[in-house]
Amino acid sequence: PPSATTLHALIQHGAENAPALSSPGGVPLSFGALRALADRTVATLNAQGIGRGDRVAIVLPNGPEMATAFISVASGATSAPLNPSYKGDEFEFYMSDLKAKLLIVAEGSESPSIAVAAKLGVAVAHLISTPEQGAGSFTLTFAEQASAPAENPGPAEPDDIALVLHTSGTTSRPKIVPLKQSNVCASARNIRTALAFTPEDRGLNIMPLFHIHGLIAGVLAPLSAGGQVCCSPGFNALKFFGWMEEVKPTWYTGVPTMHQAILGRAARNREIIASTPLRFIRSSSSSLPPQVLRELEETFNAPVIEAYGMTEAAHQMASNPLPPKPNRPGSVGLAAGPEIAVVDHDGEPLPAGETGEIVIRGDNVMSGYENNDKANAEAFTRQGWFRTGDQGVISPDGYLTITGRLKEIINRGGEKISPREVDEVLMDHPAVSQCVTFAVPHDKLGEDICAAIVLREGVSALEKEIRGFASERLAAFKVPSKIVILDEIPKGATGKLQRIGLAEKLGLA
Ligand code: ATP
Ligand code: MG
Repeated sequence: PPSATTLHALIQHGAENAPALSSPGGVPLSFGALRALADRTVATLNAQGIGRGDRVAIVLPNGPEMATAFISVASGATSAPLNPSYKGDEFEFYMSDLKAKLLIVAEGSESPSIAVAAKLGVAVAHLISTPEQGAGSFTLTFAEQASAPAENPGPAEPDDIALVLHTSGTTSRPKIVPLKQSNVCASARNIRTALAFTPEDRGLNIMPLFHIHGLIAGVLAPLSAGGQVCCSPGFNALKFFGWMEEVKPTWYTGVPTMHQAILGRAARNREIIASTPLRFIRSSSSSLPPQVLRELEETFNAPVIEAYGMTEAAHQMASNPLPPKPNRPGSVGLAAGPEIAVVDHDGEPLPAGETGEIVIRGDNVMSGYENNDKANAEAFTRQGWFRTGDQGVISPDGYLTITGRLKEIINRGGEKISPREVDEVLMDHPAVSQCVTFAVPHDKLGEDICAAIVLREGVSALEKEIRGFASERLAAFKVPSKIVILDEIPKGATGKLQRIGLAEKLGLA
């Protein structure tokens, strides 16, 4: 299909009666019905004074309504999905930060966002779900009639902001990322191309739809190819195989901690796995340990495609290729749409094989953070490349490997250590299933290294033994002074293991 530059155009490719969205156990919504729903929603919003450029905070549980609300609102205004589990203060920060003009919540919702909307003078619409008309079908009701219709009605244009998200806040306070219609569509196109989506594909979305990964890779990319997406109510390893049996997906995408939880349940679901052949499994948003990649490939007998994404790039930047080209465990693959380079401190390009900061340039990349001149001044090089803040190296045949995040580099008495390198070594220990290496304050060294690990089920190992293992494989200055064995490592809202703040949480700082 031709490449769309607006969401309105992106959903036009699917056949009128072909299923676009579904939910486990529900009636599918056809592409024709999705288009009608989007058009109707834009007309309703316009009549309520919401038009192009106006921001609509969407606070809904994960599921097909979240997907249709996102698409419908962004067809004529700007969608700003927020994590429904935020507390009042968080809603206040996010809703005033992004200058929402309307809040959409589910009928009967008790979300604290409603009180925040009242306080901030933001209008509220209730979404009434009509699943009998197809998964994700809804109508909107407004408590008050707007005094005037929208000044800028009609379908959004390519340069309008389609989506406003905050970064995950892994390294600092979340930054607001405005993404144009054209950015979002370019990213969907890049993912569609990398994964060769067709109308025959059926995805099972388990990613939260308030984060770029689920919105673009989980929902828009397959829809842009006329394929179907089944929206689960949110990740649940206990329910995953039941959904798989019912939905018969051809693929799914997730973050590494989800894949690990799925693997933990795989042994009792062998029959479902055997009767549900997957074309591939995709992983993104944080590094996939090669051990987990191999275990996934063996368990599901399907290739695992690790990709590299970030909010500022409307998700995907690089992706491993589909067979027959080889995927490379430990690497995030080849540039998949945008140009990718590795630069030195001054922004000068480095040759293949040298480690530096990963920079990108392409039509999926945002033009700048909102209300954050400082971040913008640091974010772009003189040559117009966006600095990802990630450190990496490109092989002579173009495969990118992420070696760490610049902000996470640990400085132990002047010795610079990438915690990722240490994670990778500890993950090689047969008893270790998850690992996060982090800095702890130290009187003389400034920073010292500590690691938190989770052991594999039914395996025991002592700290001393794992430190010994690390000492045999790492220079002494990189060996963690302390290894804490935990039942669980704290995860962020999108399932990423949290490195920053771990020292405080464990009482080590
Ligand atoms: P913040 O920018 O607020 O600190 P964040 O960077 O975690 O948070 P996101 O935009 O959700 O917010 O995540 C993008 C980052 O996730 C990338 O910059 C990179 O560090 C990491 N990442 C994404 N995919 C991968 C991957 N496959 N392997 C390793 N790291 C990855
Ligand atoms: Mg970031």
